[in-house]
Amino acid sequence: MNCYCGKPGRYQDCCQPCHTGQSPAQTAEQLMRSRFSAYVLQLVPYIADTYYPAIQSADALAEISAFAGNARFLALLVLAAGDTPTVNPAQFPLLRPDSLAVNSAVFSYVHFKVWFLSADKLHLLEEHSRFVRIDGHWHYVDGVLLPHPVLKIGRNDLCPCGSGKKFKACPPHWLNHQPAPARPPR
Ligand SMILES: [Zn+2]
Ligand SMILES: [Zn+2]
Repeated sequence: MNCYCGKPGRYQDCCQPCHTGQSPAQTAEQLMRSRFSAYVLQLVPYIADTYYPAIQSADALAEISAFAGNARFLALLVLAAGDTPTVNPAQFPLLRPDSLAVNSAVFSYVHFKVWFLSADKLHLLEEHSRFVRIDGHWHYVDGVLLPHPVLKIGRNDLCPCGSGKKFKACPPHWLNHQPAPARPPR
């Protein structure tokens, strides 16, 4: 059995303690995983709260809610994670490290892929993301996106969510009632 984030083990022992605040994420990768699980479960306040506060827009909750509500998140694959940037740091769009309003900012980086369905399309989101730790808490700052084609799914195609059903007969999809598939859909 896997958690929604794809890690072997139960959600109750993996991402849930982050979501409830019982045990905040100890690493950027753990925060990344818990944010993915939060997208699966549509825990919008958790996603909003784990953004770097200074870059949050006033409409953050509504924006996250609209995105999460229209997508079914299928799988997460973490390709690399650690304190070494996985991409040239100058490419990060939002903040220069020295513009952060903290002296002891600690950055960490996660290179990941996420698959999600939106209407009849399968999206692959690949990102080099950047996280910062402030007062012991990790926050998502920003990321460099790598483009991938969007795939249209035919009504009679096998649903990429892993349910084994035809796409037209599948919604609300596997993740509504079961943990994430162990393997990404492509
Ligand atoms: Zn998890
Ligand atoms: Zn499905």
